[in-house]
Amino acid sequence: MNIQWYPGHMTKAKRMMQEDIKLIDVVIELVDSRVPLSSKNPDIDNIAKNKSRIILLNKYDLANMEQTNQWKAWFEEQGFHVALVNSKSGAGVKAVNDVIMLACKEKIERNRRKGIINRPVRAMIVGIPNVGKSTFINSFAGKAAAKTGNRPGVTKGKQWIRLNKNVELLDTPGILWPKFEDQSVGLKLALIGSIKEEILNITELAMELIDFLKKNYPGSLKSRYELEEEGTNLETLNNIAKARGCLLKGNELDIDKAAHLLMDDFKGGKLGKITLEFPKR
Ligand code: GDP
Repeated sequence: MNIQWYPGHMTKAKRMMQEDIKLIDVVIELVDSRVPLSSKNPDIDNIAKNKSRIILLNKYDLANMEQTNQWKAWFEEQGFHVALVNSKSGAGVKAVNDVIMLACKEKIERNRRKGIINRPVRAMIVGIPNVGKSTFINSFAGKAAAKTGNRPGVTKGKQWIRLNKNVELLDTPGILWPKFEDQSVGLKLALIGSIKEEILNITELAMELIDFLKKNYPGSLKSRYELEEEGTNLETLNNIAKARGCLLKGNELDIDKAAHLLMDDFKGGKLGKITLEFPKR
């Protein structure tokens, strides 16, 4: 799913978020573990001021584990509660419940002091498109989600999924925009497939990826495509085309095909578990 953001679109999303956020105790923001900062919304800190905050490093199955752990520590230093999840397989998803309880500990204690017990804390999922919000909600809520939808007389509009006696989740996630005014962010989101490819030249994108991999994951291309030498970035792409028999009529190398092949391999995790940005300290 791709959303083309424009100012009106953003204003509407922001207004909806500001309304929804009044109802909730804890904001759970999903980011993509391969690009934890580039997939983060630039304005959420402001919108979610005074709320408990959780960052879920989703799709950690696709990222470099060591880097993901460093990102976890980095976000924790900024005051977030953090968990690693693979929403697709369900790994780490159950544990999010404990993270919510921990993030809302003060709120629960405050309620208890006021004599309010067993009032569930309310959570909402937010994140930019394609980060895995729906997959996470389905995995986390499981059967509870289906039950809520089927209950007769449930009013349309805001629906809460009762996860257990302590936690309720808003059933629709908040969709946020990325920092698209930053070119390097746009590039990274394109590499993970979160921005329509038509707006970018696939060969250029492949060359950027080659450049990044050579600097940060040396040998990954050589071993995947059994290249003898890599040469310049363009030569590498040519060599990938050769290695994979990407040819046009007349035996000319089909660079465009090689670029697509490389991008698909990357997105499919065939080049290994690769993180595209690293925490700065
Ligand atoms: P949303 O736009 O934020 O709601 O994102 P979706 O839930 O539609 O997920 C976008 C894509 O990412 C889908 O193809 C999911 O299968 C995939 N996805 C979601 N979570 C994970 C994950 O943890 N690991 C992997 N490998 N893929 C995931």
